[in-house]
Amino acid sequence: MTAASENLAAGAKPGLTFNPVLSHLPVYQPGRPIEEVARELGLPVADVIKLASNENPLGPSPRAIGAMREAVAQLHLYPDGNAYYLKRRLAEQLGLDPAHLILGNGSNEVLELVGHALIGPGSEVVVSEYCFAVYPIVTHLFGGRLVSVPAREYGHDLEAMRRAITPQTSVVFVANPNNPTGTRASDEEVMRLIQTVPDSVLLVLDEAYLEYLESPLDLVPRVRSGEKRNLLLTRTFSKIHGLAGLRIGYGMGHPEVIAAFEKVRQPFNLNTMAQVAALAALDDREHIKRTRENNRAGLAFLAEAFRALGLDFLPSHANFILVRVGAGHDVFVALQQQGVIVRPMGGYGLPEWIRISVGTPAENRRCADSLARVLRRSSLAL
Ligand SMILES: *Cc1c(COP(=O)(O)O)cnc(C)c1O
Repeated sequence: MTAASENLAAGAKPGLTFNPVLSHLPVYQPGRPIEEVARELGLPVADVIKLASNENPLGPSPRAIGAMREAVAQLHLYPDGNAYYLKRRLAEQLGLDPAHLILGNGSNEVLELVGHALIGPGSEVVVSEYCFAVYPIVTHLFGGRLVSVPAREYGHDLEAMRRAITPQTSVVFVANPNNPTGTRASDEEVMRLIQTVPDSVLLVLDEAYLEYLESPLDLVPRVRSGEKRNLLLTRTFSKIHGLAGLRIGYGMGHPEVIAAFEKVRQPFNLNTMAQVAALAALDDREHIKRTRENNRAGLAFLAEAFRALGLDFLPSHANFILVRVGAGHDVFVALQQQGVIVRPMGGYGLPEWIRISVGTPAENRRCADSLARVLRRSSLAL
């Protein structure tokens, strides 16, 4: 018996009563920060590379950095609670009205707003096996019931997800391309899902990696036309724009849905730096182009390196790649000892796999060399 439970047994005053959902709620496990790993291994920070959180290896948009420098002197003022300039520019670029847009402290906040507005005890939330870890967390946080549909060749089986919808279903989450698998559902399947999802269900299409696609399915016209009130698209400035540390993302949906989100968000959820940086990054075509090109070349390089090592991997449509290395957690630890941080996938039900984010050419080379060394040296390989 612990001291606390003895106290309770002895009839002492009970402590706090936590929200019961918290007892099964996992804490989100992020990629490990460079400084933390360097400290632990006694390595200089400069010797550690992080390919674990799908960040932009080219850094923030240079235009965003310039805009933030100018904004520093205004930080004694609260941010614009409505992010007027950013919303207006985004709306212009997308051909939408500002009333179609909700901004969030990362698109993760937009996902949480979905929970606030639509998920409660009794509601079912449909996701795919190997879905983004935040969807189950949001579902459980608001007391919803998670319905996880088996994957098809590691990707989403959208037809099966459609069949899993019941009268209790309030939300369906689909990331396309998906994280952590890098898989992409066909345009036809996505369109069929949009057309057949019942009006009582919000279909959230998470487009965090859309900007990496050569020919993405453009769903913005569906939002613009207003024909589907129950469609929400989410995007982020964390990936292609290189602003993950600022926390900014957005959702596009019917004004009625957006109005509900506006009620449940914090008054100043978007800080001033994030607003000015995102505004500048939106027009930084050069940085977007360089990022895409670096990513395309990096994916090809890593795929070739995995082939040479005889490793299975999933062809990726995003800025990371899932590769089967055998004892995934052990390989993650061994790579970390070499100063290369990747992401183990046991928590996603993929214990034989690791996920590697595309880095700069030098980082990709170092990662591939370290992986080859780790697998050669040990009996960790399949
Ligand atoms: C990275 C990622 C996001 C972005 O999250 P932010 O909160 O905007 O940083 C959203 N969805 C998926 C599937 C992702 O992988």
